Amino acid sequence: MQSPIVGHHQIIEQLHHAIASNRVAGAYLFAGGANVGKETVALHFAKSVNCLTSNEGACGTCLSCRKTDNGNHPDVQVIRPSGAWTRINQIRELQRRIVYRPLEGVRKVYILTEAERMNLEAANCLLKTLEEPPAESVLILLTANLDALLPTIRSRCQIINFQPLPVPELAAHLIQQFELEESHALSIATLSGGAVGKALTLLQENKAHFENEIPEIITTGDRLAAFRIAEKLSQNPEVLDHLVSWYRDLLLLHQGAPIDLLTHVYHIESLRRLTSRYSRLQLQSAIQTIFETKKLLTRNVNATLALEVMVLKLLVNDT
Ligand SMILES: [Zn+2]
Repeated sequence: MQSPIVGHHQIIEQLHHAIASNRVAGAYLFAGGANVGKETVALHFAKSVNCLTSNEGACGTCLSCRKTDNGNHPDVQVIRPSGAWTRINQIRELQRRIVYRPLEGVRKVYILTEAERMNLEAANCLLKTLEEPPAESVLILLTANLDALLPTIRSRCQIINFQPLPVPELAAHLIQQFELEESHALSIATLSGGAVGKALTLLQENKAHFENEIPEIITTGDRLAAFRIAEKLSQNPEVLDHLVSWYRDLLLLHQGAPIDLLTHVYHIESLRRLTSRYSRLQLQSAIQTIFETKKLLTRNVNATLALEVMVLKLLVNDT
């Protein structure tokens, strides 16, 4: 069965095999960095365990799979820290429920996220369940910090280590799923360090930046546009901070800084082209000019005039 998950093929195969051969452990510990895919795989495992149509994997379409996807399967529960910690009453509640047979599925599945954030009382309480996990149940503990867990907890779970995806593999996935350009996919994959969840978050953030087009003042060399641009800026002077972020990106690129320092990674290709139009000094003085104008605007100056002067200076820079 086709797995919908990016990467972690071996782990998924191992888990599918455990289900098919009826050797699902009572407790697992998924260890690996933040956003690497532990929770996604845990939920996939929960679906696979209870899937109504497939014996190896999750179909994703049966009632059981859909209920798990929608977070309303009565036998699948995700327990997250409440505030800073997962507390003893959350574990006691789990213990109260876990002894009953599954209502709809084959097994009850409890997923504890950020297991390192169980306080000592809660962890000691959970030990009792880990010592003798009820039949027809499976506990999946997730952690980004294996060493922070009690050794007694670690030793009672089957530990599965999650590694970040190789950058080229993650990039290939991003290209395929989101139709990204190769260079863009590679920058996102690199920035995320191979963590799929992180990559998706970055992609969303970058999309927001993408909707913010590169300011016209940077892309145009037309001094006739100056007054129109100044007029626009005067309606929304807060945009000046935003404008600085673009010049800062150009300056960083000019200095050969790593791309993870950029604010507008999504526009990396255009920025690379644009940065060659400026000298380092021009970029520095552009940023300085914007800061000086910001200062002027806090005093009682003619805002439109100050902005016109600024725009003209910035365009003069642009040769
Ligand atoms: Zn299914």
